[in-house]
Amino acid sequence: MKTLKYIALSGLLTLASSCGNSWLNIEPTTEIETETAIKQLSDIEFTLNGIYSSMQDAYSYSGRMIYYGDVTGDDMQANGTTKRTSDYYLFEYNKDNGPSTHWASSYAIIQNCNIILTKIDKIDTEEPIRRDDLKGQALTLRALALFDLTRFFGYPYLKDNGASLGVSIVKDLSTIDSKPPRSTVAECYNEVLGDLTTAIPLLGENFIKGKINKWAAMTLLSRVYLYKGDNALALSTAQDAIKGAESKKYALWTNAEYPTAWGVDRSSTTPGEILFEIVNLTVDSPGKESMGYLCSSSGYSDMILTSSFYALLQQDSKDVRNKMYKISKYYAFITKYQPQGNETISDANIPIFRLSELYLNAAESAVKIGDNANAVKYLDAIVMRANPAKTVKGQTITLDQVLTERRKEFFGEGHRMFDALRNHKRIERIDVAVPAIKDTKHWTMLPEAQSFDWTYHKSILPIPKKEMDTNPNMKQNPGYAD
Ligand code: CA
Repeated sequence: MKTLKYIALSGLLTLASSCGNSWLNIEPTTEIETETAIKQLSDIEFTLNGIYSSMQDAYSYSGRMIYYGDVTGDDMQANGTTKRTSDYYLFEYNKDNGPSTHWASSYAIIQNCNIILTKIDKIDTEEPIRRDDLKGQALTLRALALFDLTRFFGYPYLKDNGASLGVSIVKDLSTIDSKPPRSTVAECYNEVLGDLTTAIPLLGENFIKGKINKWAAMTLLSRVYLYKGDNALALSTAQDAIKGAESKKYALWTNAEYPTAWGVDRSSTTPGEILFEIVNLTVDSPGKESMGYLCSSSGYSDMILTSSFYALLQQDSKDVRNKMYKISKYYAFITKYQPQGNETISDANIPIFRLSELYLNAAESAVKIGDNANAVKYLDAIVMRANPAKTVKGQTITLDQVLTERRKEFFGEGHRMFDALRNHKRIERIDVAVPAIKDTKHWTMLPEAQSFDWTYHKSILPIPKKEMDTNPNMKQNPGYAD
């Protein structure tokens, strides 16, 4: 029996009861087994599959890592004050009871990537291309986890050019005795960019179900450049990735495909626009805390479209994205999380990187460098796909126009609060009277949560209490300290 262990699953399953710096707790025995057990590429692949498997957890990318960015924004809200999404939506937490799972699940990914990355160069193999690809995947997943930690716990880069605190950068096999301090946001971005630019030349270009490839890594890279304000690089990276992905059969979903494309089981012959997704299966399901079950009116009915966002979408009732929600009892429930084949709704896959994001990253960065021709080109592809009767040709595109299109395209996919705040825009939680969803209203909340920008201290999370209690080098975020 294989003795190789990876900490991801056990790490995640114990989150609720023991968080703190258990993310650093690779027990010595595990470490020794890992030392001796990773000898060949199949051992690397086994560990990598463990990372992908951990990302399926509803505490990770099948649930909380996604809906956090939605219900903290203005386009989605909790459907009540005692729902699973309510605390995020209402910003009802403090330094003592803030959520700990983002921290723990993301560092579990990083730690397992570190196991791979400290071993892989020493493995002799006659399959160097396969080794390169596996290394590229591990580097990209580490970059994704560190980038997400940085944007959950650190202020937007452009608020102060990355001078404020990000998170701890962990690159080797830490132990429970490791007490790493936080690095700055700028230092975290440098690490993320370093991992991604190393990974991209190593990665394969073809679709492999549920795995990172070159185009997925380049989507993350363009996203990071956009968040950092490196707009020329964001544009060129997005353009190169669009061209490369489309040469490998990826394509934007058509208007006709769009409503049901989410439920299609993707393959190398029809990858559609899914550059990377979390693949959930009935035999390997994230369960009822997953996006599929939480969003569904026949599941937990946990989150709904806000009335203001519904009104925005309804400004063009022929926009195909109006088919991505279903109205039930005067509430609008998102329907993007569709099960594949005969699965139940809990088993819906979770898109992480879509080709549409590359188009909108290209359009946004083009606007920011005054390249209207490219802004029109890439925005128009998304606008026309949504409603073939519409076009932005001949227009001078504004940033607000692109950001509004992002809202319509990505609602329920974890982007909204980040997209607004990184652009120093405000989140405004207001009600609009709409008969079709007349029962949808914002719940009573703190005045500071009704309208905020990147100065709101709760727009980033508190460092989890157990981490603060066990790591003397850890600093709490401003505003949470007392
Ligand atoms: Ca599925």
